[in-house]
Amino acid sequence: MAIKGKVAVITGSTSGIGYGVAEQFARAGVHVALNSFTDTEDDRRCVKAIAEEHGVRGIYIQADMSDPDQCRALVEKTAAELGSIDILVNNAGIQHVAGIPDFPREKWDQVIAVNLSSAFHTTAAALPHMRSKGWGRVINIASAHGLTASPYKSAYVAAKHGIVGLTKVTALETAEEPITANAICPGYVLTPLVENQIPDTMEKYGMDRETVVREVLLQRQPSKQFATVDQIGGTAVFLCSEAADQITGTTISVDGGWTAL
Ligand code: NAD
Repeated sequence: MAIKGKVAVITGSTSGIGYGVAEQFARAGVHVALNSFTDTEDDRRCVKAIAEEHGVRGIYIQADMSDPDQCRALVEKTAAELGSIDILVNNAGIQHVAGIPDFPREKWDQVIAVNLSSAFHTTAAALPHMRSKGWGRVINIASAHGLTASPYKSAYVAAKHGIVGLTKVTALETAEEPITANAICPGYVLTPLVENQIPDTMEKYGMDRETVVREVLLQRQPSKQFATVDQIGGTAVFLCSEAADQITGTTISVDGGWTAL
């Protein structure tokens, strides 16, 4: 079944991976609902740009993914405005870095809420819509940190392992239906978030850009190359293709060999 004309909602999609995924879906003819917790001219401009370039419908819905009610409202508003909800991409994510004894309680709660609980709430709201249409795709953007760990990232690693578990349960509960649920596990992707870390790291270690990228950021990524947002988007589009009809409850790593180590 071609995905042209289907409707996708992508959480946290005004920048980085979420925006890249939205663009790849729009390129494939999918109508897209973009989201963030902000409400700015830029938010609406980036949706308009995607919609106009690819000739699809595009809407922006402000919703804070740390709030369960707003997570569920995002799905309902997408269905109301675009007519259905066929593809759900849980992408919104935040990071906080600190040792466990010093990890602020409120940061733990926030990271778990945005990176994990939001996906539970959006999935709960989206499955009835997918079931009524008889087709659906749930795609969770996890991380190499959904499969491996790093120190000082307790909440992030716990949330990403959690979302891999949620993906498997979603797949089992929908296994006999034409609905699949999978997690994409990126390694380091060059998004504005990562790009912004480079100057500080150069200064901190007295390294040039190339050395920071190779020895610090991509230390665990054997390919020594960043993954790109288009590659993550392309993987999401593949998971919506007929070739992927029997791919469910699993993880796809896009990590340059990180998890092979
Ligand atoms: P990013 O900061 O560019 O994008 C995160 C998005 O989430 C932004 O659009 C932001 O507005 C949104 N967001 C944050 N808090 C939100 C909230 N409360 N409600 C709604 N939206 C919210 O980061 P990114 O690098 O594109 O990351 C996207 C996803 O990919 C995250 O889940 C991240 O964990 C995952 N990931 C990123 C990398 C990487 O190297 N960049 C690697 C592995 C996994």
